[in-house]
Amino acid sequence: MADTTLMDKLVSLCKRRGFVFQSSEIYGGLGSVWDYGPLGVALKKNVKDRWWRAMVHARDDIEGLDAAILMHPKVWEASGHVSGFTDPLVDCKTCKARFRADKLEDAPCPQKPSKKAGQHTTCELTEPRMFNLMFKTFMGPVEESASVVYLRPETAQGIYVNYLNVLQGSRQKVPFGIAQIGKAFRNEITPGNFIFRTREFEQMEMQFFVKPGADVEWFEQWREIRMAWHHSLGLNPAKLRWHQHGEGELAHYAKAAYDIEYEFPFGWNEIEGIHNRTDFDLQRHQAASGKKLEYFEQSTNERFVPFIVETSAGADRVTLTTLVDAYREEQVEGDTRVVLGFHPSIAPIKAGVFPLVKKDGMPEFATRLYHDLKQHVPAFYDDSGAVGRRYRRMDEAGTPFCITVDGQTLEDGTVTVRHRDSMAQDRVAAEGLRNWLVDRLS
Ligand code: ATP
Repeated sequence: MADTTLMDKLVSLCKRRGFVFQSSEIYGGLGSVWDYGPLGVALKKNVKDRWWRAMVHARDDIEGLDAAILMHPKVWEASGHVSGFTDPLVDCKTCKARFRADKLEDAPCPQKPSKKAGQHTTCELTEPRMFNLMFKTFMGPVEESASVVYLRPETAQGIYVNYLNVLQGSRQKVPFGIAQIGKAFRNEITPGNFIFRTREFEQMEMQFFVKPGADVEWFEQWREIRMAWHHSLGLNPAKLRWHQHGEGELAHYAKAAYDIEYEFPFGWNEIEGIHNRTDFDLQRHQAASGKKLEYFEQSTNERFVPFIVETSAGADRVTLTTLVDAYREEQVEGDTRVVLGFHPSIAPIKAGVFPLVKKDGMPEFATRLYHDLKQHVPAFYDDSGAVGRRYRRMDEAGTPFCITVDGQTLEDGTVTVRHRDSMAQDRVAAEGLRNWLVDRLS
């Protein structure tokens, strides 16, 4: 049974604290489209930055790219998306709802009341028909079929059509990779579960180009590296697992595929896919464009079309995962404390700075400290209400450290540092605080 209460609480916390808002809310909202508020944009950016650091900065064999969302429509014909990027759609003749035939659950049809306790009547479904998930729009002032372009449903194709450009400019050699973070769009039949499945989302994709025959080994290496990355975000390892795609599940381009799944309150679901795409994409683009997409390996004098191992994660899904994984409620002194226990490296705010009271020079000291810290880490100044309430607000924002300037500060220059998870308090010299914090965040 899905724990909908937890998701409801999380959605409401996300709105209250400024993580995520429904798009166009004052007009009643737009189905499954979400906007990131101040804390949400910071959290998602931290997730993306960590990915970029691990995949591009820390490696010698991966280059970055930012390809455009709009591409030549022939790209999507060659890639197989125009003909094959479809999901099976079924309608319920009674309640008129639409479902993805491959994701159907045996849920009661809302139009048909249950007959007996423990039994229900399910929807009366039509035969499945294939529905293409790509959004279409028109380029230029004339809305005709010749000017149809697509909003990309994956960032990968922008990498494939640029791989020789990147290779030339960067002087990389196969094996090497290209990484990209960017928006993708899919006209999902049944979006939902908050920011889990949306029609506009961001992907963090890396395509690794290898010599044919080396693909299987690299595939295994990338599986290991990617799972370790999710662990490094502080996610609970017991809630992460592998799902191997069986014959019937494999995408049209894939030779092997594994998903990294997380156990959400609504069940185990994919957050990242690792795919052995073979040379399918480059062969198709080579044939359709008439341009040679081969690689010449100097050391062996061989020419070949590289195989591709892809790691494809959703920035929004991983962000949701960090929220779900971090959420907890604790009973403290007869009160419920809600905490987002983020790994400090992804916490949107690293330090809350408070004057204990608004007098005796404490606000001035705290403001100076806050401005100094803010040059180095995202910090938040709060002087309203009891200090206990300020702690609770920072707990809900997932802030790992709160710093309070009090009477003793003015005497000996030390401040109280309160730790989010243990609620323990230390005294630290205000002077060395910046380095103390930076040490704990790195
Ligand atoms: P699903 O089976 O959930 O539809 P998929 O297998 O089609 O996903 P891929 O094409 O492998 O997904 O995309 C790679 C990653 O992009 C997914 O692991 C996910 O994190 C993200 N992603 C895909 N579709 C969506 C979506 N509609 N909303 C948010 N993220 C998405």
